[in-house]
Amino acid sequence: MQSRKQGPILGQMMERPLLLSSLLRHAERYHADTEIVSRTLEGGLHRYGYAAAASRARRLAKALERLGLQRGERAATLAWNGYRHFELYYAISGGGAVLHTVNPRLFPEQIAWIINDAEDQLLFFDLSFAKLIEQLAPRCTTVRHWVALCDAAHRPDIAVPGLLCYEDLLAAEHDDYEWPEFDERCASALCYTSGTTGNPKGVLYSHRSMLLHGYASCLPDVFGFSARDCILPVVPMFHVNAWTIPYAAPMVGAKLVLPGAALDGPSLCALFEDEGVTFTGGVPTVWQGVLQQLRQTGRRPRTLRRGVIGGSAAPPALVETLARDYGIELDHAWGMTEISPLGTYNKPKAKHAALDAAARRALAAKQGRPPYGVEMKIVDGEGRTLPNDGVAVGELLVRGPWVVGQYFNTDAPTLRDGWFPTGDVGSIDADGYLCITDRAKDVIKSGGEWIGSIELENLACAHPAVAQAAVIGVAHRKWDERPLLIVVPKAGERPTREELLGWYQGKIAKWWTPDDVVFVEQLPLTATGKISKLQLREQFREHRLPDGESG
Ligand code: AMP
Repeated sequence: MQSRKQGPILGQMMERPLLLSSLLRHAERYHADTEIVSRTLEGGLHRYGYAAAASRARRLAKALERLGLQRGERAATLAWNGYRHFELYYAISGGGAVLHTVNPRLFPEQIAWIINDAEDQLLFFDLSFAKLIEQLAPRCTTVRHWVALCDAAHRPDIAVPGLLCYEDLLAAEHDDYEWPEFDERCASALCYTSGTTGNPKGVLYSHRSMLLHGYASCLPDVFGFSARDCILPVVPMFHVNAWTIPYAAPMVGAKLVLPGAALDGPSLCALFEDEGVTFTGGVPTVWQGVLQQLRQTGRRPRTLRRGVIGGSAAPPALVETLARDYGIELDHAWGMTEISPLGTYNKPKAKHAALDAAARRALAAKQGRPPYGVEMKIVDGEGRTLPNDGVAVGELLVRGPWVVGQYFNTDAPTLRDGWFPTGDVGSIDADGYLCITDRAKDVIKSGGEWIGSIELENLACAHPAVAQAAVIGVAHRKWDERPLLIVVPKAGERPTREELLGWYQGKIAKWWTPDDVVFVEQLPLTATGKISKLQLREQFREHRLPDGESG
């Protein structure tokens, strides 16, 4: 008699690796004429379909081979959102090398450090960065070729050895290239965190992690993309893979509109109208610019009804105005470079239909709940897990298949007991909705308690005379730190200190009320377009609080 088999048996399904090249192959076959439209740096719009994009990406992949780029080696980009950058996304990763998107808004010293740390072999750059490339070239010794993203007629006149022209490379190749198959765990892309303290840290994504992340981001309770969408990522392709949109759009066969370097309100609104954009995403400062433009024209967009706001806390007043006055529903999302970036996304559940308007607004102001694939918890100072009751506040830890396991090029441990410590602080409610109260570095510590700057900023932004607001801690002899409110008034408005402090009355615990208010014309931004608390803290380090106890 045969004995019963013990233990698990393998499934008998096909083993097709989850490779990024398969996304472009899919779009080429089934969405051949769906357009990618780009605002170019040379002037005007460029448009073609996924089939033409795929053909050019294959020619580029051959050119990369001819330039000697080996699998696993890094090739960098310093580029805005445009069709050539899209081709590089697929040609570099699809061929087995690693796409390293560099943020051009960092300081040249930081950029050089990043390129050297990544040991980039090739660097592709947009014409607007030609002067920067001249500064970088002598310092970046691993780069064998600098490739200008243009045709021969627009070749920049700069003294850089090994300078090549993108269109010349493509013209020399045929598109008879087969995307190679390899292990889905191979690295596909590399992105550095902005490194506001210390050197930036590299996050090395894999084909598998990006593909799973792409699937998750298309889910109905996340971006909810379809082949009927026209998506314009304002978030740059050098900032966490433009929140995965260059992968998600071909996955579903959506039209893609790439805005180039013109990220101001008027240029974006023109593209929304001319191209029929249905979805867009950006950080709050981008949405402020869009709102300003909409106010000037006084018109509702023709097709734009949905979008995502994230990267820093979304001021509820901004979100409510865009919905009420212009019919644009923004979802609040939270993520980070280390999470590819999708961590949470805010969509209501069925039971929330019963909530009154105020409760629905309060829910929508939270950062959202995790999609399948992300697990999260909050812990106290000793690492003990805190309850998901929407009240307890602690450090946020996450894990999942698209969360970093180990930073690039360092042996220092990245994880704590298998979880990634995000450095963000907040609460999680029983339904899984996350509410970030602060970045751990930005928390204001007053008399042994924490004051969350985000809530104070959101309330200030809801004041009718306030355009933007930031709250930082100022050193205080008795309380360690006290909050200082920094405000950019709306054009033509002159709110007073007393008026703004009075605005908080009855809305928060009295001791949370800022001690003072300063008015500025603008707030400093980081390289990813977020308000820079670090610079504000430097700027107002010597600020004297009215009670004379600063410092
Ligand atoms: P980055 O890696 O540059 O995308 O920055 C990630 C950080 O941005 C997070 O750790 C948060 O501190 C912050 N962040 C992103 N999204 C949000 C959000 N919706 N609300 C508050 N902070 C956010």
